[in-house]
Amino acid sequence: MEKKKYALVTGGSRGIGRAICIRLAHEGYQVIINYASNEAAARETLELMGGQGELLPFDVSDADAAKQALTDWQAAHPGEYIAVVVNNAGIRQDSVMALMPVSNWHRVLDISLSGFFNVTQPLLPAMQLRKFGRIINMASVSGLKGLPGQANYSAAKGGLIAATKALAQEVARRGVTVNAVAPGFIKTDMTEGLDEAALCKQIPANRFGRPEEVAAAVAFLASEDASYITGSTISINGGLYT
Ligand code: NAP
Repeated sequence: MEKKKYALVTGGSRGIGRAICIRLAHEGYQVIINYASNEAAARETLELMGGQGELLPFDVSDADAAKQALTDWQAAHPGEYIAVVVNNAGIRQDSVMALMPVSNWHRVLDISLSGFFNVTQPLLPAMQLRKFGRIINMASVSGLKGLPGQANYSAAKGGLIAATKALAQEVARRGVTVNAVAPGFIKTDMTEGLDEAALCKQIPANRFGRPEEVAAAVAFLASEDASYITGSTISINGGLYT
């Protein structure tokens, strides 16, 4: 029987990350739930996964903390490796650029873009050695189109899409694929407080998406069936932007 693959989901405690953890656990992966600080939410995710998985909290924007946590995980799991990583952790701190505090610019880029680097780099050697790996990055329609009030977030997500394409070409020969998904408006804590009725008028599907609809695409990209897809970005936005 094939060994269960380990999948690390950053920002797995809530929202889209939680739905991805649940979906991957249902598909038989050993899921590692990363989160920043909300342990209660992370434990709830673990429960919703049927208790099959583990928690690995660290701040993805802290390169040393990420490396230490992943090194400790490896030491505790000899002979195993993380075959799938979903770089999902992200925040938004919106304001028009003229009024944006410099700290908001850096924090958003540090988590979404540098977080991808900090978490993925330590995992690459094992993926390449085993000749199988799946790296899936959570971008956004903002990274494709650019959205006003989100110069920081759009830059982070646009950078993530470009890094996805670059890394895909570096590791394709080793059986490692690197892809991104770009959701539009999805119902989570992040979109709480937005004027849903007004925004729905701009969305051809006339509704916000569900986290599970993003998780389905991520699960496909993680699967063996997606072996020949790399460097791609899949939009999941109800027709909002193509
Ligand atoms: P959410 O409900 O606000 O959840 C954010 C998750 O990220 C939480 O699990 C949080 O952990 C974690 N996180 C935040 N900062 C972190 C850090 N420094 N280190 C580790 N984990 C961190 O957000 P969401 O809507 O599910 O969004 C998930 C991803 O999808 C983000 O990258 C977001 O940009 C992207 N996205 C969302 C939408 C949308 O409409 N919702 C659309 C496009 C793209 P704690 O629970 O510990 O705080």
